[in-house]
Amino acid sequence: MNTTLVFGDNPGPYTGAGNNTYFISGKIPTLVDAATGQPSHLDGLAGALGAASLTQVLVTHAHPDHADGCDPIAARWPTAVFRKMPWLERDTRHSVDFQPVADGDPIPAGDGTLRTVHTPGHAPDHLCFFDEAGGTLFCGDLVVLGSSVVIPSSRGGSLTQYLASLRRVRDLAPARMLPAHGSAIDAPGSVIDGYLEHRQRREDQIIDVMRAGARHPDVIVERLYQGVRAELRLLAKESVLSHLIKLRDEGRVRVDGEEWALS
Ligand SMILES: [Zn+2]
Repeated sequence: MNTTLVFGDNPGPYTGAGNNTYFISGKIPTLVDAATGQPSHLDGLAGALGAASLTQVLVTHAHPDHADGCDPIAARWPTAVFRKMPWLERDTRHSVDFQPVADGDPIPAGDGTLRTVHTPGHAPDHLCFFDEAGGTLFCGDLVVLGSSVVIPSSRGGSLTQYLASLRRVRDLAPARMLPAHGSAIDAPGSVIDGYLEHRQRREDQIIDVMRAGARHPDVIVERLYQGVRAELRLLAKESVLSHLIKLRDEGRVRVDGEEWALS
């Protein structure tokens, strides 16, 4: 597939330098992810389109840095169709009518076909789009090179699902992954293995500090993330909670109010 990076131009604490969106040229001009609707993003998209008109936008998930650009894009290219896996409470914040896609659906895009891969965990509606012919996986927020992905367990995230999604994508063996943040990933297998090892190490550390007496998530955060900046403390707590919920679901930890203990 002939793919061009169209930069979202929306830097921030949660988006790094800003979002990547990907334009696929051909018979069905397609954009993967909508970013936030910065005028410079729309202009970049117009430049990539040239004389063509935008046919469709595929949205990896409903988080604002991926979906807020849908309405501005629809205003500029009114015939474009928007597709994503439904997450109704989030999708209804936008005026566009999302066409629902499900796991395994083939979506004609550019001059080829993308296969939809449901990869929940970071968000319940998270999709990757796989160009099976070329081996490229548009991976949204599944993986970010050199960083780890937030699992917002209080807002639809699930570490258990996330780990299963990572394993599923590893088994698809893409040759290259194009993420919504950061650089392209040319060795997906080893990056995903590194992610799985990182989460296993984190889980082992959480069990260790719980064995040493920590019961409250705030205490676990303090011991594991010493000196973490205040604005990242909430993210650290979300991460610890996602591990505790996974361990609870596995019967290895029990919870009583805000106190968690090893079973
Ligand atoms: Zn996200």
